[in-house]
This record gives sequence, C-alpha cells and structure tokens, in this order.
Amino acid sequence: MTKPAYKRVLLKLSGEALMGDDPFGINRATIERMVADVAEVSRMGVELAIVIGGGNIFRGVAPGAQGMDRATADYMGMLATVMNSLALADAMRQVGITARVMSAIAIDQVVEPYVRPKALQYLEEGKVVVFAAGTGNPFFTTDTAAALRGSEIGAEIVLKATKVDGVYTADPKKDPTATRFSTISFDEAISRHLQVMDATAFALCRDQKLPIKVFSIVKPGALKNLILGEDEGTLVHV
Ligand code: UDP
Repeated sequence: MTKPAYKRVLLKLSGEALMGDDPFGINRATIERMVADVAEVSRMGVELAIVIGGGNIFRGVAPGAQGMDRATADYMGMLATVMNSLALADAMRQVGITARVMSAIAIDQVVEPYVRPKALQYLEEGKVVVFAAGTGNPFFTTDTAAALRGSEIGAEIVLKATKVDGVYTADPKKDPTATRFSTISFDEAISRHLQVMDATAFALCRDQKLPIKVFSIVKPGALKNLILGEDEGTLVHV
C-alpha cells in the first residue's frame, strides 16, 4: 500500500459541509459520508486533528445576528461549533474511531478543555482530536482556529475542505474559462487577490510556513487521494 504523504494534519471542515442539501443543521447521510472519509485516513495511521465551523447553525455576522452585540453573536457561533464537534465525534464513535473533543471555551460538563500537551498525547495515541469553539475569541473565525491549532500541534499541512476542488484563476461558477491551480505560492495568491482562507488565517499560515491544501469535501476519495500525495486540490506553499 502507498505510504501516506503526511504524518500529522489539521483538517478544517466548514459547518456548511455538514448540511448536505439541507438549508441548515446537520444532514445525517452527509456527516456519515464525511466521517467514512476521515476514518479511512485515520486508519492509515495519519494523526488527524479537526477544526469544524459553525456556519450551518449560527454565524456571528449572519442576518440572524443583526442588531446583536457582535461579541455575543460570535460566542453563539463558537457554541455552534461545539455542537458540530460533538456530532462529528459521535459519528466517528459509531464507525469505531476514537475521537476527543477539546473546547477553547470552558464547558467542562460537556467537553474537556483544550490543553495542548493533552491534545498532542491523544494524537500520538492515534485518537482523532476535534478542536471545538474556534479560537475561543470573538472577532475570529474557525479558519483562524485551524491555522492556530495547526501551528500549535506541529501539523505538516492545513487541509481546507470546501465545496470546490481547489483554488481557481476566477470563480468557476461565474467564469467557464477559470482554471484550477495545482500549486500556488502564498505571495502569488495575495498578488492575484485569491481568497484561500480569511486574511488572519492566511497570514498566520504564511508566517508559520504552514502549507494549505484546498480540496473538495464533496468529491469522493479526495481526502484519501491527497493524503497519499496525489495531485488533488490546490497546494498553497511558501
Ligand atoms: N467564531 C468566533 N471565533 C472563533 C471562531 C468562530 O467568534 O475563533 C464564531 C463567528 O461568529 C463565526 C462562527 O463562530 O461566524 C462560526 O464559525 P465560522 O464562520 O468560521 O464557521 P464556518 O464558516 O467554517 O462554518
């Protein structure tokens, strides 16, 4: 069997990836399919940490939060990521993968707090670690949490799962001539004004020389392919 190209990775899943075709919330079939992909990679011996968003439940800047104090709305968004993390960890349990949820906000009765050495220990033990509650701070995003936790745990790469299979020269939905980059440097992505992750997350990855791989979570087998080092998605490199 081909050896995995990475030993430790940080996978960023957006909350919306859990919705499937539903307008909000968690779609059972979708989460089960995603977890099957994740389980396959975990069983290959890759140390896997996951940051999941909350956009399928609540977004601090969404219309539903209009008029709300921004920080309060953001805390609601972070709590939404805790719900998604619990759902994800439970779906993993159902397929025989041990996952641990660690929260950046103290909710001790529900999940354990994020403690870096403990997270590293779990990863070394082959458990999947799900980082909940983003960075624990309002005015940030879960993309930034992915860059932060990825840097903290010494991940070799941040795998940013999206609905599109990489970074394109233009929006492929609007421009049929748009082509996908197989690789692109941080500098070129900036000069071409390409949106890879939010600006804070992008800057942190760039500073830390932490590459980002943008890939499609809806394409079957994409996660496994890229873990095996195949030309999948777009690699953003230093
Ligand atoms: N959020 C936050 N700080 C963080 C991470 C998330 O305040 O460190 C809040 C913010 O309101 C955000 C919401 O949680 O809109 C959900 O996160 P995000 O939008 O990143 O989720 P995704 O788009 O990946 O589903």
